[in-house]
Amino acid sequence: MTAQFFAPVAAPQHPRAAFADRHIGPSAADRDRMLAAIGYSGAKALIDEAVPAAIRTARPLDLPPALSETAALDRLRELAARNTVLTSMIGLGYHGTITPGVIMRNVLENPGWYTAYTPYQPEISQGRLEALLNFQTAVADLTGLPVANASMLDEGTAAAEAMALAHRASRRKEPGRFLVDADALPQTIEVVRTRAVPLGIEVVVADVSGGLPDGDFFGVLLQYPGASGAVRDLAPLSAQAHERGATVVVAADLLALTLLRPPGESGADIAVGSAQRFGVPYGFGGPHAGYMSVGDDLRRQLPGRLVGVSVDVDGAPAYRLALQTREQHIRREKATSNICTAQVLLAVMASMYAVYHGPEGLAAIAQRAHRRAAEIADGLRRGGVEVVHGAFFDTVLARVPGRAAEVVAAARERGVNLRQDGPDRVGVACDETTLPEHVTAVLEAFGVPAGDAGEVAGAIPADLRRESPYLTHPVFHAHRSETAMLRYLRRLQDKDIALDRSMIPLGSCTMKLNATAEMEPITWPEFANVHPFAPVDQAAGYVELIGELEANLAEITGYAKVSVQPNAGSQGELAGLLAIRGYHASRGEEHRDVCLIPSSAHGTNAASAVMAGMRVVVVKCDEGGNVALDDLHAKIGRHGDRLAAIMVTYPSTHGVFEETITEVCEAVHAAGGQVYVDGANLNALVGLARPGEFGSDVSHLNLHKTFCIPHGGGGPGVGPIGVREHLAPFLPNHPLRPEAGPSGTGVGPISAAPWGSAGILPISWAYIAMMGPDGLRAATEGAIIAANYLAARLAPHYPILYTGRNGLVAHECIADLRKITKETGVTAEDVAKRLIDYGFHAPTLSFPVAGTLMIEPTESEDLAELDRFCDAMIEIRREIQRVADGGYDREDNPLKNAPHTAAQLIADGWKHPYTREEAAYPLPALREGKYWPPVRRIDQAYGDRNLVCSCPPPEEFED
Ligand SMILES: *Cc1c(COP(=O)(O)O)cnc(C)c1O
Repeated sequence: MTAQFFAPVAAPQHPRAAFADRHIGPSAADRDRMLAAIGYSGAKALIDEAVPAAIRTARPLDLPPALSETAALDRLRELAARNTVLTSMIGLGYHGTITPGVIMRNVLENPGWYTAYTPYQPEISQGRLEALLNFQTAVADLTGLPVANASMLDEGTAAAEAMALAHRASRRKEPGRFLVDADALPQTIEVVRTRAVPLGIEVVVADVSGGLPDGDFFGVLLQYPGASGAVRDLAPLSAQAHERGATVVVAADLLALTLLRPPGESGADIAVGSAQRFGVPYGFGGPHAGYMSVGDDLRRQLPGRLVGVSVDVDGAPAYRLALQTREQHIRREKATSNICTAQVLLAVMASMYAVYHGPEGLAAIAQRAHRRAAEIADGLRRGGVEVVHGAFFDTVLARVPGRAAEVVAAARERGVNLRQDGPDRVGVACDETTLPEHVTAVLEAFGVPAGDAGEVAGAIPADLRRESPYLTHPVFHAHRSETAMLRYLRRLQDKDIALDRSMIPLGSCTMKLNATAEMEPITWPEFANVHPFAPVDQAAGYVELIGELEANLAEITGYAKVSVQPNAGSQGELAGLLAIRGYHASRGEEHRDVCLIPSSAHGTNAASAVMAGMRVVVVKCDEGGNVALDDLHAKIGRHGDRLAAIMVTYPSTHGVFEETITEVCEAVHAAGGQVYVDGANLNALVGLARPGEFGSDVSHLNLHKTFCIPHGGGGPGVGPIGVREHLAPFLPNHPLRPEAGPSGTGVGPISAAPWGSAGILPISWAYIAMMGPDGLRAATEGAIIAANYLAARLAPHYPILYTGRNGLVAHECIADLRKITKETGVTAEDVAKRLIDYGFHAPTLSFPVAGTLMIEPTESEDLAELDRFCDAMIEIRREIQRVADGGYDREDNPLKNAPHTAAQLIADGWKHPYTREEAAYPLPALREGKYWPPVRRIDQAYGDRNLVCSCPPPEEFED
């Protein structure tokens, strides 16, 4: 029977057996339908027309053939198994923590949270905005400073941003000096140095235990507790700093602040740090949320994103990103921050950790870590080992003359990593996960008997104990049972639109599939629980994975070398420009400081250029949206041998493949400049063209765009840079990890961790492995086909701004609403908000051109979803026409009143001149799975027209 059953027919081939066939949305038949709608008979013909021959690569991707999901996961398990997970008691800003299962599964492993976009459309982002506001509240309360942002990229960069903020606050013209506590985290000191160099700021590192050194400083950075574990009273140091007019920055451990007097009560003007130990695993260095909080006087200059409370049109409270985060940029001063993608998902996790544990729970966790440290100190002293600092929180520094290496090795044999601090000292950091057996193992490693400690005395001086309350807001008291927590997370998630609900057609942001198989490995303990400064042989799997990923990205981009250290695109930009700066300097041309930036550029470009010590000169775009060559030549001529670089996005943010890119590169090279191609749009190039081949010297890529790391509601991201050979010596490196970059010639660390956000690199590794060379190229083609299909379907209804030759676009297209707005009063924003009633997240609004919508479908959306979106856009166009024809009132219509809430529609006394049905169900398909926004349109009180990004246009930086 069985034999008969199987014998006659060959097993049918699963039509979508390959991973690439599920990553790419449309089936082969649908793709042909889309091509026909665009007017092409095959993909090759379309691609050959759309992508200029001048940039096409002659060499197909030389990558291993595609692995199935199972095979890729098997290989990742092998790599994971090569990591050794020991108990790390190294400290230095990274601590063991327990991610509550309810947060792990329902946030970190939940596409409802991890596939969301940055909350620029506040009406569909109320859930994550509330979570971020909780993060801000927790940070503000714990640090004792009133205003906190959400979030910074890591502790080191937060400290560097604080230096820049302190400098701005000082209103000094000259760069001046910045004092750094010698007991600051070593990686923080180096990140601050990297950032200070191009700005001309002199960083002075000094032991401040006996007071500040002489001299003039615009700011002071103190670590609390110190890297050595020492807890010092900050108040006298702050007072001394203030006497000299210096701003006081304190890098503080949030958990310690549940027990220690907060920086805000000791005179700090700015607090920075990391929220890692609030339930976010090590991940071999990241991603984790950095934080910054400030006093009221600095709130207007706070970098990064700030969630504020506003109201909707009914006066109901609603959250939104405060625009003041951008007002800092609008004043034409020095560069502020270039942060765009932040660490939202990790900030959400940390905030939920605080919500779940509440103030008493956090204090109990801190007390326990403190007690373990006190037990270790007590045991060491009883065994005759000198404990260096009498006052500490969780970290004990022991003096063992000449024996440090031996102690560290003995601990390792017992499964514990300690920190060796020179030949004579060993640091031991305790945390939430430290158990009595760890205390025993540590004492044994020191050769000290681990007898019963009994009651040990605490080591926090009475006058430094925290007295003030924190986390008093009801949210930190309401969700203590797992059931309650689960429901709170679900309630917030349900308020938002993420990719698990509908397509998010955001131009320039590449909201593609984040496949489950790509996501699975990141929470495996072998990847999640490795300390970034664990001995590198314990991270052998990571090192191999990173090496393969860097090599694959180099092959894809045509560059000689790639560094994955930058933890966002903005940081990649800075790293790339610093490489250019280093290169010019190495040739005795440090005077080259002009950076040309086309007017269509993303705001981060200009901000990064200023941070790299360059002067921004804007190059005009012509009517077709291309870099205006006459203006380019004029500007090159004007700046002559001051020209350092051009930063150009390719394909441009106008969504076209510029034919002239090679000419642009040649002109800049001929004048001695370097070419930076912003690789955020690489999704239009992979497998078809390589920036390293068509004339670029350096690019950053956004792994959270092209290479499938989810946006996380606004982060994490990874912004690796690729460089040609001559720039390779000037890549980032790291003080604690010579393997992580070119030591000696490197520009220093761009991120706090040696390989940045290593913990999420398995996602991009898996994407490349499972797609293989053909799948990657097919994805690019799919993205271009999908964008052109949308353009073809929408063009009869909305003018498509900018196209390349033959009227084709690249991987995104811009729908121009400006004429429609002039005629009907209906704006691009009205369309964006009306799309919410249709269940969609709006496309990118008013970037790069005000009054337009930039639409990027990506290859992952299937034809049905693309059509659903087009149907919505076309129906909205009909509604606009009714406004034009007088069928709808010009002010009181479904577009102007969008989005509509259930409460508004159910309320008695509906008075609008259109029906409730027209408001809620403009298309029949919406009856299934209708999304109901939790608030009506939120009052954009500041009359802002550029909601895409808190980054300013390049013109703001021109001098
Ligand atoms: C997204 C983007 C950036 C910035 O990248 P982040 O990772 O958000 O810092 C820069 N340039 C362009 C064109 C982008 O689309």
